[in-house]
This record gives sequence, structure tokens and C-alpha cells, in this order.
Amino acid sequence: MIGIRGQLTLLVPGVVAIALTAVAFIAVRASNRDELEQFKELNLTALEALSVTVATSVAQNDMAGLDTVVAHTAERLSPHGLLELAVIDDDARVMAHSSPEKFNRVLTDPFTQQALGSEGPTWVREGNVLRIATPATSGIRWATVTARFSLAQMEEAFAVVRRRWAMGTAGLFFFIAGALFLGLNRVVIRPVRVLEHSVRRMGEGHLSTRVPSLPGREMAELSDIVNRMATALQSERENLEHTVADRTRELSEANARLERLAVTDGLTGLFNHRRFQETLHSELLRCERHKRPLAVLMLDVDFFKKVNDSMGHPAGDELLRRLAEVLSADLRQTDLISRYGGEEFAVLLPETTKAEAIQVAERMRESVELKINEGTRWTQRITVSVGVATFPEDGATAETVLEAADQALYVAKRQGRNKVVGAKAA
Ligand code: GH3
Ligand code: MG
Ligand code: MG
Repeated sequence: MIGIRGQLTLLVPGVVAIALTAVAFIAVRASNRDELEQFKELNLTALEALSVTVATSVAQNDMAGLDTVVAHTAERLSPHGLLELAVIDDDARVMAHSSPEKFNRVLTDPFTQQALGSEGPTWVREGNVLRIATPATSGIRWATVTARFSLAQMEEAFAVVRRRWAMGTAGLFFFIAGALFLGLNRVVIRPVRVLEHSVRRMGEGHLSTRVPSLPGREMAELSDIVNRMATALQSERENLEHTVADRTRELSEANARLERLAVTDGLTGLFNHRRFQETLHSELLRCERHKRPLAVLMLDVDFFKKVNDSMGHPAGDELLRRLAEVLSADLRQTDLISRYGGEEFAVLLPETTKAEAIQVAERMRESVELKINEGTRWTQRITVSVGVATFPEDGATAETVLEAADQALYVAKRQGRNKVVGAKAA
């Protein structure tokens, strides 16, 4: 599709060219008419002057004098384009002629007939020839003077005038078209381009783009409207971005809560069996890679069933929560305690040897015995038995280490409970 610049490039010179050509044409035509009129008047005056002498000569029947004056006038007017000069009587018979051999001929052409019938001067243009005739009167009409003039000279002079006009018009054309184009470029083309560029950038998503101030009321209003639109869109987008950010944060918080819930035991708030298994597997891999030790404790409450039986299930739950508190207190940041199931807890101690782990287990057993039984809320003495196993001595995999800890726990139960037993390395 042709742009504004293209359209103006065609339209402006076109209109200017048509207007200038019309003006030049009218001016040249008028000038041509004036020139012709002047040429005719000049020669007519000469013929009228001649006609006075002709009338006198004819009245006196002075034919020799008539020939002389005709020849003389012909000679005088020939530099001005005279082709032929004749004096004729009322019957159109030649009485004197610039070419003497034409004496006595009868002129039969329509112009001559018209001239003979006219009281005053007559003229006609026949192509490049101007014919003029005037009666020679002195009291009565004695004869008619008729002449043919070539217009070639005048046309030649006129061609020069036409060329000058054409050159002047062409110069004026370039000047006016150039000035108009520059003006339109400043007022229309450039502002439209600037506007187009800014709107395109906005369309590409650069909503901070603004249209610079443009000349002309309409362009200024248009750029103002576009800028206000961009501002509205920009703030709308910012709002949207904030909303999305809020929603994303809420979502990730909810996800984190959900994830915590999925790995947390609802009763005690400790990690659950699943999380213990995952951590045990990953920690085991790490310790294997770095050739570091790792210990697992399995704790089981002694005769827990009796608490439920004698004090009720809610009291049993309460005891489990209290145990979780007491057991967690003794651990390092890097250790992990979980409710493994029922009244059983599993503890993961990274970077810990069998001897160290037995110490930790012993401390936990003592804490339970001391802290839980304080104030004797319970109908029986609360104690725990603990089985201790370590990687890599008691097992090379998560399953075998756990199995070893479980076996040690079983031994502790058999040996009378409230005990810490280390697994016997296989
Ligand atoms: P032992 O010394 O041999 O371990 O004896 P125990 O009575 O502790 O052993 P047992 O495995 O027979 O009993 C465990 C009981 O723990 C059985 C079950 O009712 C109870 N229990 C398991 N989970 C919960 C719980 O979430 N809340 C309560 N209150 N009791 C539970
Ligand atoms: Mg049990
Ligand atoms: Mg038990």
C-alpha cells in the first residue's frame, strides 16, 4: 500500500504542475494575441498612410506615381514581413502591385471580395500569413489597398518567448513543489512517522514508550490520547504483574505448607516415616561418597499399650507429644528425628560413630526417664528401649542398617527394656 510520503510525492508535484501549466498557457496565449494585434495595427497604419497617396494618384490618374509609391512602400515594409502589396479597383483588378507582372490581374479570393464590400479596414489571418486591406478614399472610394504579411518573424520571436516561459515555469515548479514538499514533510509526514514508530514500540510491548510532542493541534491531541492509553495499559499491566506475583507467592507458600504436611506427623509435629526414609537414603549416599559414618536409633516406648489401657487413648496421644518434645531437645541441627510409626521413633545421626551414637541414645533414654516421669502424671513409669546401628559396620544399605537397629531394639526389649543396645556388627 502506498504511504503518505508516496502519495504526497505524487500529488504535490502533480497539482503544482497542472496549475503552473494552466497559468503559463493562458499567459502565453494572451501575449501571443497582443503581439499579433500590435503587428496588425502597425502595418495597418502604414497601409492607411499609403491609401491617402493612392487615392490622390488614382484621382489624378497618375499611374506612374501610383507604381512608384507602391514600389517604395513595398520596399519599406518588406523587412517587416510584407509579402505582397496591391492596389485594386472596384472590380478587383490590379492597378499597381509590388510584383509588377501581376498588373491587370483580377483577384477572386473571398478576402478580397470582403474587403471590396467593406467601408473600413479589414484583416484576416490565414495560417502564417496576415492579410490587411483598407479603402483609399478621397471624397469617393478610388481604390482598395490590400497586402499580405508573413507572420514567420513574429512567430520566431514568439517561440523565444514561449521557451522563456517554459523555463521560468519549470524553475518555478521545482521551487514551489520543493517548498510545499518540505513544508508537508515537517507538518505531516515526519509527525506521522514519529507517531507510527512510537505506537509500533508500544505494540511490541514497550509500554513505557511515549510519543514525543508533535507540531499541530491534531497531532498533539492524537499523541496525547496515545500516551494516555499507554499509561493506562502500563498501570494495568503493573497491577496484573503484582496480582500474578501475589498469587505465585501464595501458591508457593501453600505448596510449601502442603509439602511440610506431607512429610510431617500430625500428632507430634515430627517428620513422618516417609521423610525419614527419604533422608536416610540420601544421607547414606552422601556418607558413602565421602566415606563418613552414619548412625540410626530405633526407640520404642516400653509397655505403651498399658498407658492406653489404663488412662485412655487421649492420654496415650499426650504422652507421645511429650516424648517428641523431650527427644527433640537433645539433638543437633543436622540430626533428624521422626515418628516412625505407633509409639516408635527413628533418629538419624549423620557423621556419628557407634560409640557416639550409643552415648546419644543413652542420653535420650535418661532424659525420658527423668523428664517424663517428673510429677508422676502417669500410672506407670515411662521408659524407652533403644536399638543402635551404624553405617557401614551394621549394613551397607538403608534397609540393612534399619534391620540391624530393629534387631538391637528387640534385644533391648528382651534384656528387660529401658536399655540401649548396639547392633552386633555382622
Ligand atoms: P513393648 O514394651 O513390647 O513395646 O509393649 P507395648 O505395649 O508398647 O507394645 P505393643 O506394640 O503391643 O503396643 C503398642 C501400642 O501402641 C498398641 C497401640 O494401640 C498403641 N498405639 C499405636 N499408635 C498409637 C497412637 O497414635 N496413640 C495411642 N494412644 N496409642 C497408639
Ligand atoms: Mg512398638
Ligand atoms: Mg512399645
